[in-house]
Amino acid sequence: MLNNKAVTHRLFPLGLAILALALLLFVFLLGRFSSGRAQEAAGLPYQFRIEFALNTVCIVSLFDQTHHEVYEEVFRRIREIEGRMSRFLPNSDISRVNAAAGFAPVQVQDDVFMVIQRALYIAELSGGAFDPSVGPLAALWDIMGANPHRPTKEEINAVLPLVNWRNVELDHQQRTVFLRLQGMALDLGAIAKGYAADQALAIIRAAGVERALVNLGGDVIAHGERPDGTPWRVGLQTPHEELQTALGVIRGRDMTVMTSGMYERYFIYDEVLYHHLFSPFDGHPARTGLLSVTVVSDVSMDADALSTAIFVLGYERGRALVDSLEGVEAVFVFEDRRIRVTPGVDFVLADDSFRIVAD
Ligand code: ADP
Ligand code: MG
Repeated sequence: MLNNKAVTHRLFPLGLAILALALLLFVFLLGRFSSGRAQEAAGLPYQFRIEFALNTVCIVSLFDQTHHEVYEEVFRRIREIEGRMSRFLPNSDISRVNAAAGFAPVQVQDDVFMVIQRALYIAELSGGAFDPSVGPLAALWDIMGANPHRPTKEEINAVLPLVNWRNVELDHQQRTVFLRLQGMALDLGAIAKGYAADQALAIIRAAGVERALVNLGGDVIAHGERPDGTPWRVGLQTPHEELQTALGVIRGRDMTVMTSGMYERYFIYDEVLYHHLFSPFDGHPARTGLLSVTVVSDVSMDADALSTAIFVLGYERGRALVDSLEGVEAVFVFEDRRIRVTPGVDFVLADDSFRIVAD
């Protein structure tokens, strides 16, 4: 166990940090820090609503005529998804599946089944770097909990055999999910937020809203373009800055921007940083020389999972994965402050203590 005093416990101020980040990104998105044209855009009518859901700050902004019912519907759906997919809520579908691990298949809602199916597909695609059965590792380290814990080798070795997406069994007819081994646990933390973003967008589109921003804790869907006809500008946070400053801006229309970074949720013990993106191969927070990976694409569910997968894979293998996928682009931020950007991303650097290296 860790000596609590020795732990620089970063989780308590996390809520505040996320709020600050979300607000920063929000202001950025409105273009307040940018050109005169942007300020005109910000002056056009828009509304937004902020709520805490999915363990983070969610901001939905609609830039058309105001549709109050759309906000209601979007947040109702986000909460429904959380209610079904969170491993922290005891009555969620995921918690029921986890509780029955090793014993019995459990029937789940259609959307839960579909997201698990997609998660298994991305697990396969990434050679297991992304693994939705990472639950026992997440629980052991408890990075997100009240008592983050640096486990012993023995503890890690005890849970590693439980982390294996191939032991997740789906029955399409019955719509059931079965975890083959007792002690296994699903954790959809790296994909459910993306799915929620996709669902928010679907609701917004169906209502006929042509311009909108959905920001789920820094993961952003930018729908349409800015009211003045210019591309949206989605801010990325500078990793590890205490003050939430902007690393740069991604410009684009109709895009989703999903980031996985080791600076989002972590604790420090003996000057070593332990973060929440685990390597299913060795059971430790993945260390690949990357600070963060941002995936730019059009399907948030995939982009969300891929950003985690790529972070765990590291640049070489992660880049190969990005290049193999149609319509998937990425920004890689390295510990040595280099940045690599794939050709399809329009990225403007704001923090000159980082540098973009040629692709
Ligand atoms: P964030 O939640 O900060 O947006 P991610 O989308 O990358 O970041 O999701 C991180 C979460 O995914 C972790 O908190 C954990 O629940 C889960 N996770 C950690 N490692 C893996 C992994 N290798 N594969 C799948 N999910 C993971
Ligand atoms: Mg993510």
